[in-house]
Amino acid sequence: MKEITTIKEAKLWLRTYQKKNLKIGFVPTMGALHDGHLRLIAQSRAENDITVCSVFVNPIQFNNPEDLAKYPRNLSLDARLLKSHGCNMMFCPSVEEMYPNGKQDPVDLEYGMLDKVMEGKFRPGHFKGVVTVVKKLFDIIGPSNAYFGKKDYQQLMIIKHMQASLGLPVNIIGCETVREDDGLAMSSRNLRLTIGERQVARRIFEVLCKVREKGTKTPVWELKEWAIKKIQEDSMFRVEYFEIADRETLMPVEAWGHKNQLVALTAVFLGDVRLIDNVELFS
Ligand code: AMP
Repeated sequence: MKEITTIKEAKLWLRTYQKKNLKIGFVPTMGALHDGHLRLIAQSRAENDITVCSVFVNPIQFNNPEDLAKYPRNLSLDARLLKSHGCNMMFCPSVEEMYPNGKQDPVDLEYGMLDKVMEGKFRPGHFKGVVTVVKKLFDIIGPSNAYFGKKDYQQLMIIKHMQASLGLPVNIIGCETVREDDGLAMSSRNLRLTIGERQVARRIFEVLCKVREKGTKTPVWELKEWAIKKIQEDSMFRVEYFEIADRETLMPVEAWGHKNQLVALTAVFLGDVRLIDNVELFS
């Protein structure tokens, strides 16, 4: 596996493959890799000639400086994992390489409500940072297919929207959430949970599953209230939001009887670690 840190070298290395019209699969990550990331790598390998993974903790998508400072990093372990999982190139640029002299060139797009609800509401500037870095990475890598997890459901919808509105020549592929044995969605942030917090963390997915099970038998508002209360029954949890929303527009719905398919999404603080998760309803 080739490890590359500069944009110039990445473009040069990729040119050989692009000239041969080979399919490049791309998995953007922030590292501290786990099986969720590796599942995206596996899917990319199955569907492309070569697979590139970027590892870059993108400072401009963090609205909370403490979250950025505490974000887990382990580049040498990431490199070993990617190599043993058949990734062809790891692109791990510095912040200065991506934003020389702090120049961000932010990508400003109109998303309707998509970037204003849930994560957009509670993490101001987050999606602008995500879209800016992903667009920059797409320009460098030139992938045919790019893989994103449904774990970050709203992010996936935003990236799909960005691809469509800019007419980028890349397929955006959403992959199912990979979970620990107890149901907790895998996340690099799970590393920050204390042993006690990790033991109770399953509650988030348990409540999401219960919501899916209860379905339309309970009014939407009552179900949301129930879910928040149920999660917070354990005082280690604090729910930031719990919404039931349209899968495409992510507009929260007020009542059932909605023709489109829905998704239940939540953001929860467990101690000082912010976790997000979701389940698709009626699939
Ligand atoms: P991150 O490193 O957290 O920015 O994640 C990089 C990519 O991996 C994003 O597209 C995430 O949605 C995806 N991802 C993270 N965790 C999981 C998971 N548990 N299952 C599937 N995809 C995931």
